[in-house]
Amino acid sequence: MAIRVWDYLPEYEKERTDLLDAVETVFESGNLVLGESVRRFEEEFAAYHGMPHCVGVDNGTNAIKLALQALGVGPGDEVITVSNTAAPTVLAIDAVGATPVFVDVREDDYLMDSGLVADAITARTKVLLPVHLYGQCVEMAPLERLAAEHGLSVLEDCAQAHGARHHGRTAGTMGTAAMFSFYPTKVLGAYGDGGAVVTGDPAVERSLRQLRYYGMDRVYYVVQTPGHNCRLDEVQAEILRRKLRRLDDYIAGRRAVAARYAEGLRDVIGSTGLVLPPVTAGNEHVYYLYVVRHPQRDRIIEQLKNHDILLNISYPWPVHTMTGFSRLGYADGSLPVTERLAKEIFSLPMYPSMPIDLQDKVIGALREVLATL
Ligand SMILES: *Cc1c(COP(=O)(O)O)cnc(C)c1O
Repeated sequence: MAIRVWDYLPEYEKERTDLLDAVETVFESGNLVLGESVRRFEEEFAAYHGMPHCVGVDNGTNAIKLALQALGVGPGDEVITVSNTAAPTVLAIDAVGATPVFVDVREDDYLMDSGLVADAITARTKVLLPVHLYGQCVEMAPLERLAAEHGLSVLEDCAQAHGARHHGRTAGTMGTAAMFSFYPTKVLGAYGDGGAVVTGDPAVERSLRQLRYYGMDRVYYVVQTPGHNCRLDEVQAEILRRKLRRLDDYIAGRRAVAARYAEGLRDVIGSTGLVLPPVTAGNEHVYYLYVVRHPQRDRIIEQLKNHDILLNISYPWPVHTMTGFSRLGYADGSLPVTERLAKEIFSLPMYPSMPIDLQDKVIGALREVLATL
């Protein structure tokens, strides 16, 4: 059997009883949409973050879209973010009619270069949208300073950073609102799609509740502002409640895999040019992805296939270079660090229930391949 970057089946085997009980709990509850499980999950996910509000939605992309809409962001507005991200970050900005403005990422941690943001701010800028990519947080202090100075909102894309910490603060507690995805591969993953927005602002919360429910207040059935159907599914919410209790264990499991990789590869990094995932001071990484870097990335991936190890690249094409975003007008070379990284990064298999023998196979095969380059 090939080793893949992610596999939920070992986890399902361990948690099967609890997960199937979650499904049965909802089926027997007599309420299949926006019932007790969604309500409780929202309460518990907010509490995990020490925040007053959480609104469950159908996926992470719509979490971003609705958060932008709740802040009144639309056509003519600019949202500053990065091109080294999952395309949905940018698709959500596009979906509300706003214009994404990209700044480059840092060589040291592949995340938004907060030092470049000041120069990207214009009279149209409404939101700074840092992406806590791969499982660690963007340097927030400069963004918070700029937001206060220019009257902007900060929206954190936390789709890859559940439980990550930044100078003691939890990802998702540092902006106006924070958007989460519970896509199955994520650090907190559903058995299907799911998403949520966490916020401290009651007006944003109320707006989100309307926007996910056709734009209505539920009791009146009157559209207040035209909205969407973006509800978090009741079954997924109950599964997420059960899994939220184990979130800190999942994170510990990911850190254990990361530590084993680091231990097994430490002595070859200098001699082979392999770069292990950097962790910026003040950050507690949750390793959604274990992203390494090497100038001969494509050769390594090809050769590891011969060892039955199938790796991923997150992401091989920066968003600003994608055909669908050519109208944004970013020339090749306009975001040099982002573009260079996209040619050199690749991800080793990473999930908390990954068997140790598979971790060791990956280490052994990678060492072998690196030695023959
Ligand atoms: C996964 C992801 C999203 C989108 O979440 P979906 O639930 O797949 O819609 C957005 N941003 C980032 C950074 C992601 O990794």
